[in-house]
Amino acid sequence: MKPAPFAYAKARSVEDAVKLLSEHGDGAKLLAGGQSLMATLNMRLSHPDLLIDLNTIPGLDSIALNGGDVAIGAMVRHAAAARSDVIGKHAPLIAMALPHIAHPAIRNRGTIGGSIAFADPAAELPACFLALGGAAEIAGKGGGRWVKADDFFKGLYETAIGPDEMLTAIRLPVATPEMRYGFAELSRRHGDYALAGLAASAHAEGSSLKNVRLAYFGVGLTPIRAKHAETALAEGSVDEAVKALEADLDPPDDIQETGAVKMHLAGVLLRRVAAQLSGGHA
Ligand code: FAD
Repeated sequence: MKPAPFAYAKARSVEDAVKLLSEHGDGAKLLAGGQSLMATLNMRLSHPDLLIDLNTIPGLDSIALNGGDVAIGAMVRHAAAARSDVIGKHAPLIAMALPHIAHPAIRNRGTIGGSIAFADPAAELPACFLALGGAAEIAGKGGGRWVKADDFFKGLYETAIGPDEMLTAIRLPVATPEMRYGFAELSRRHGDYALAGLAASAHAEGSSLKNVRLAYFGVGLTPIRAKHAETALAEGSVDEAVKALEADLDPPDDIQETGAVKMHLAGVLLRRVAAQLSGGHA
């Protein structure tokens, strides 16, 4: 199918994009890599009057160390992030997740900001952002504001970004020697959206784990922290952590799998990721 007709504007700056958004309201959509948006336009699930192209805004594609954080601009492509030494060294959970996102052609165009803002519940990067306890920089008419990952995901494809706002960057805490990371997903074929997945971070203190953050994807309407399982894992029991998932998750059936199977897969993933966090092999 072809999209419904729309007007097109090249944003010259973040301020310009925000101004166009506030002038056009719900009728406008931001265009980043287009890898999700173009499909929704072509299927006529979305029919904006105006597309505002973010690709023409300078400076949104930087990856930098900023004090204790890694700052990643919204227009950084998945492929550029995968090649980045800064991300490889200082945000290794992102580097672990990137190869699981779709295929090279999609990673060449898709952006970090597009993934986080689109907030597909089965996407890898929103869960990593949550597992790392990052923050999102959101620009609006009144300037910029920061929203913590824990407060960012509001519902299905719904985030803290308002209708006349845009995401300009995310900030992730720099990896320290005591940090441990885990990532695993199960999909029918490599590159497909996951049936279920898990991104995790924790502080290692001797043989125990503190500040465990487990963020599931593909098992609900948003990426979901499994807080009961986090506590059980920090207390040292993987079996109890798997049992605790009953209190954390209630996956709905979806087009790919039943909720019951997803619940089982969540436990399988937790055992794999727990082994990664404790330095073993999954
Ligand atoms: P776009 O498609 O341009 O935009 C997506 C949405 O986000 C739009 O509503 C847009 O208005 C909004 N948006 C974009 N940027 C901003 C911003 N800065 N501020 C506010 N709103 C913004 N993704 C995965 O995570 N895992 C997968 O396994 C996966 N498989 C895929 C398979 C296929 C065949 C395809 C086509 C896509 C797949 N994707 C997958 C999606 C891909 O990662 C997209 O790149 C990503 O979801 C959106 O990024 P984008 O830059 O292309 O955003």
